[in-house]
Parts: sequence; C-alpha cells; structure tokens
Amino acid sequence: MVQTMCNTHTDDIEATVAQTMRLAAAGAQIVRITCPGLQDVECMKEIRSRLRDKGCTVPLVADIHFSARTAIAVAPFVEKVRINPGNFHKDPQQAAMLLKELVSVCKEHGTAIRIGLNHGSLGEHITSMYGNTPEGMAQAAMHWINMCTSEGFHNIVVSLKASNTVTMTEAYRRLQAMMEESGEVYPLHVGVTEAGGGDSGRIKSCVGISTLLAEGIGDTIRVSLTEDPEAEIPVARYLSDRYSGTLRSSLRKVTTEGRRILAGYEAPSREKLLLDASCDFGRSLLLRQADDISFSGTYTAEDGRLVSLEDDGFAGYLSDELMQACRRRFYRPEYIACPGCGRTMYDLQDALREVMERTFHLKDTVIAVMGCIVNGPGEMADADWGYVGEGGGKVSIYKGKEPVLTHVPSEIAVDKLLELIEGGR
Ligand code: SF4
Repeated sequence: MVQTMCNTHTDDIEATVAQTMRLAAAGAQIVRITCPGLQDVECMKEIRSRLRDKGCTVPLVADIHFSARTAIAVAPFVEKVRINPGNFHKDPQQAAMLLKELVSVCKEHGTAIRIGLNHGSLGEHITSMYGNTPEGMAQAAMHWINMCTSEGFHNIVVSLKASNTVTMTEAYRRLQAMMEESGEVYPLHVGVTEAGGGDSGRIKSCVGISTLLAEGIGDTIRVSLTEDPEAEIPVARYLSDRYSGTLRSSLRKVTTEGRRILAGYEAPSREKLLLDASCDFGRSLLLRQADDISFSGTYTAEDGRLVSLEDDGFAGYLSDELMQACRRRFYRPEYIACPGCGRTMYDLQDALREVMERTFHLKDTVIAVMGCIVNGPGEMADADWGYVGEGGGKVSIYKGKEPVLTHVPSEIAVDKLLELIEGGR
C-alpha cells in the first residue's frame, strides 16, 4: 500500500483536508499528518470528520514526536498513531509506562501503532549498547514490539528508515529475520528517509525500497521526496505496481563485461528510465554483486523525440547517480533532506535547491537540509553539516550534531554554511 504525508500545518484544517483529498485522489492509500502537540488533537479530530463528511475514507496516521501524551490523546481519532521510540520519552521506564497507556487506548478504539524508528534518532540507551547501526535499529524495534505484545497488543506496524540505503536495507533484513525467529511477524512500512528530491531522491528511494520488495520485505511504502507530496505518489505507485507484477521494465538488453553491467533501454519516458534502472540494478550494486554500470539505448522525451542516452552525457550521469545512491561511488556531496511536514519552518525546497547549487563542488561531504529545529537535528544521522530551519526567517547551522551558528538570517545562511565548510576542510 502506498503512503504519503501532508506538509500543510495541521492547524490549517482547510488546507490539510484539501491536500489529503488530493493525495487520496492521486492514489495515496494511507495519509500521515503531523500532530506536534496536544493543541493539535482537536484539529486532527476535525480534519478526520470533514474528510469523512466529504466521502474521503483514506486511513489517517497521526505523526508524533516528543509528546507521548499527544499520542495517547489523538489515538481515538485516527486509524494509526506513529511513534518514534527515539523520542517517545527519554527515560526508558517512563516510556514503558506511557506506551502501556497508549496501547490501552489503541485497544479500546481499534487504532494501530506504528513503531517508527529512524537511524538518526535511536535514543541513547540503544546507541550506547549497539551503536548507531542496523543491529541497533532492529534490536530497538524488537524491544518495542515485545513491549506491545506483552500487553496483548498486536495491531503493530514497524519502520526502520535511514537515508543511507545500505543501513536501511540491512536494518529491515535483520528485523525480518528476528521476527521470523520469534515466530511473530508484523507488517513493515518501508522507505528511505530524507532521500532529498529530484532525480537523486527518486533513484535513492527506488534503490532502497525495491531491494527490500524484491526480497519479499515490505507491506506499505513511502517515497519521501523534498517536493510537494503529490509528486511522491507516481513513484510509489510505480514501485507498488512493479512488485505486484503489473508493470514491466523497459530494459531491453543486459550483458556484463567483467564486473561491469552493460544495460540497454528503450524507455517510454525519462522518469520511467530512472525508476526502471534503479529497480533493475540497485540491488545488485548495493549487494556488491557488480562493481559498475553503463547505460545505452533511448528514452522518449515529453515532446515525442527519441533521445539517445549517449546524448549530453546522460548515460554517465545516470550511472553516477545510481552508483552514489548505492553508496558505491561518490561523485558529488551526499545530500540528506527531509520531505517537510506540518512542522516545516521555511521554504524547504528552495533551501535545498540553493544549498545544492552552491555546494555541488564539495565532494566527500554529507550535507543535511532539514525543515525544523525540533526534529531536524536528531534526524540528520551521519551528516557532516546540517542546515536547519528555525522559523522566523532564521536558520541554524550544525557541524555534526553540534550547532555552530544559530539565528542566521536565511538570506545569508548558505554563504555562512559555505564559509564554515570551506574553512573547516
Ligand atoms: Fe517534518 Fe522535516 Fe521536521 Fe521531520 S525534520 S518533523 S519531516 S520538518
């Protein structure tokens, strides 16, 4: 099933209802809406009621961070509550007590819980034992699954997202194996988090998600793009159709030359070519079954022209992007960018575009562009530098996990980021 998330502010009820309806009409089968605090619970209730009045029955997920009380309060009014174990409560004992309370409300109202772990925000007690690793992610998920099942609650779905496709695929594989060993297998929601936008966001998402779907792992999917959420749906639908066997690749010929793949396409569009290539070869490159890839063939442009992949260096570009998404070769900086949501504090798409344009020469650097100061710093995982919206036209710049400049006016924030990176290299 295809899931996406609104990026409207939840207290803008009209805009959130309208966006949810557009997303459902475009093919979203589950829609997540951020619920930052107790003051938003009434908005969620109203959003759901207006949607149902308009005949829109798409299941709603309340997205919760840093407020277990909000999760408990909103649970009666949505189909699912997403909690992040890394920020549910700092104290493990308090977290267990609050989860018990949440489970009891969810049982009463038939609400599901998504245990939504992210690589960047695992919580100290997990990272101190396992590090910030796929093993840590899978162990943390098992711990939270066990806390739910010990209360007799099984209406659970789990996600273990990471921006790094190797970490993400490995974490899901480990959890799947652990669940199979335990004899209780729960559905998995799969996605590459903070994948960014444009070609690279699509390729990275397809590499991670298709690798797992090809292994039979994954029940619901989300393609997170730093774009309008409507743009996520065609990519997610492509993945869903392809792995349910109703859509075929435009790959026409494949040979090998040593450990290099030579792939020939006749694609009906540029976008389909990107998605086909990522799904056809992402997994082999990720698993190091091959070391490089070259493309040839054609795609049909929007104006009907047949474009040769050799034209304008497109074949080389596609190879570079796919190799980078699989973390096999880095030809440009690695960008981590959240998709944005109702917490976003600035124009995230513009910020990402400007940061990318100005830093593209800084190979071997990982730069995160995040929408909010509440969640962004915790979710940046292994970024070297972070560019985080504070609100009120201000930006914070992070080096690793530490803020090095705060309250920077957004007009000069990219200059400052550049000065810091170039000064520190
Ligand atoms: Fe929303 Fe981005 Fe903040 Fe996550 S980091 S809560 S996606 S604005």
